[in-house]
Amino acid sequence: MLPPHLFQQIFNGKIPARLNFGRSLHTAFGPRLMQDRIFTGAFDTLRQAADTLSQNMAGTGMGRQCVACSINNPGGCCSREMAGETDALQMLMNLLAGVKIDIAEDKGEACCFLGREGCTFTFKPMFCLNYNCDKIITHLGPARSELELMAGRLLGSQYEVEKILLARIEQLTESEIG
Ligand code: SF4
Ligand code: SF4
Repeated sequence: MLPPHLFQQIFNGKIPARLNFGRSLHTAFGPRLMQDRIFTGAFDTLRQAADTLSQNMAGTGMGRQCVACSINNPGGCCSREMAGETDALQMLMNLLAGVKIDIAEDKGEACCFLGREGCTFTFKPMFCLNYNCDKIITHLGPARSELELMAGRLLGSQYEVEKILLARIEQLTESEIG
């Protein structure tokens, strides 16, 4: 079981602290993880699930609609509160995928991870993945069930990767984490 201090660093604390801890984990054992076949197998499945979902969103026009909404709204459902759904595991997954993570200071009521073309994460917080507003539900019509299926697969893959990461983090020593 994850010791309380690690739980705190991964899931609680302020957003910059969670990002810093994600960066520390990435430095401490990113290269080792990418040699770990169990991890890389699950991570490849996750990447494929994320690609499939984003292609579907592009195909239905949902991606475009959300980008327009979030930029003009401001934020749409990508609000400042939602930025709090991030955690150090999800930051680590994005760093492993080569995502450059920045906390934007000038976002006002919008999420600090919202970029010009929408969310800057490849792997979003689970709550963000699960949410579709009424406008999107109406826009999608029957295509909604396919989207939900793909989002469900992605959530399942992300959960599997998180379980492996937590198991590996538990094995790290204090000095390795830094
Ligand atoms: S889900 Fe709805 S509220 Fe959220 S960004 Fe997309 S269009 Fe806007
Ligand atoms: S993390 Fe991404 S999807 Fe979630 S609220 Fe922020 S910009 Fe939107």
